[in-house]
Amino acid sequence: MKSKIKMERHESDMSLVSASLASEPGADCPLCPRLVSYRAANRQAYPAWFNAPVPGFGARDARLLVVGLAPGLKGANRTGRPFTGDFAGTLLYETLLRFGFAEGSYEARADDGLALRDCRIVNAVRCAPPANLPQPGEINTCNRFLMATLQEMARLEAVLALGVVAHGAVLKACGIPPARFRFRHGATYQLPDGLLLADSYHVSRYNTATGRLNGAMFAAVVEDIAARLTPRG
Ligand code: SF4
Repeated sequence: MKSKIKMERHESDMSLVSASLASEPGADCPLCPRLVSYRAANRQAYPAWFNAPVPGFGARDARLLVVGLAPGLKGANRTGRPFTGDFAGTLLYETLLRFGFAEGSYEARADDGLALRDCRIVNAVRCAPPANLPQPGEINTCNRFLMATLQEMARLEAVLALGVVAHGAVLKACGIPPARFRFRHGATYQLPDGLLLADSYHVSRYNTATGRLNGAMFAAVVEDIAARLTPRG
């Protein structure tokens, strides 16, 4: 992905502007009919909620990108910030704070003052899906925004994929066949363009409640990424 970024930079400032715009869908993105219907129903039922594609959180010049699955209905879809408002954010943000990828404190509100440091967070699917389950066509359709996100992050060194869907979405966005790198918790892969792809089970309540993932397991993944980033000058 880095080589693509460099090429764009050599073209014109306009290409950077358009790449930047393309990384965030509009509030009324019409591309996934089922999710658009769900969004409309939620706007009616919960008019005070965010109820729109949830934008990325964190600076575009970060070296680490965390990729999740999709906004939770009562989490990011309610608050408008990835992993904010439901259980999954607690483990994610506590771990990012512990390893210096965030500062402040996580209080499950978009206005809690938490800031990311050298880290950005997006979801593979930007709109909340019914039952937290996006369909394959929706994952594919929304991949254009993940692709644009990767392309505009000029200093990106590592991507942390939370779960198999995020792992597959990152590969697709990078134009890599899925069979080339299999999802496995704790695995790290050097992608052809030099990007480090790290896998973790998703930080969901289900995974932690069933013991598939615990805090120590997730901390080990994030600590490993932190150790592999280029030392700051
Ligand atoms: S999931 Fe992505 S592509 Fe589909 S409607 Fe939402 S923003 Fe658009």
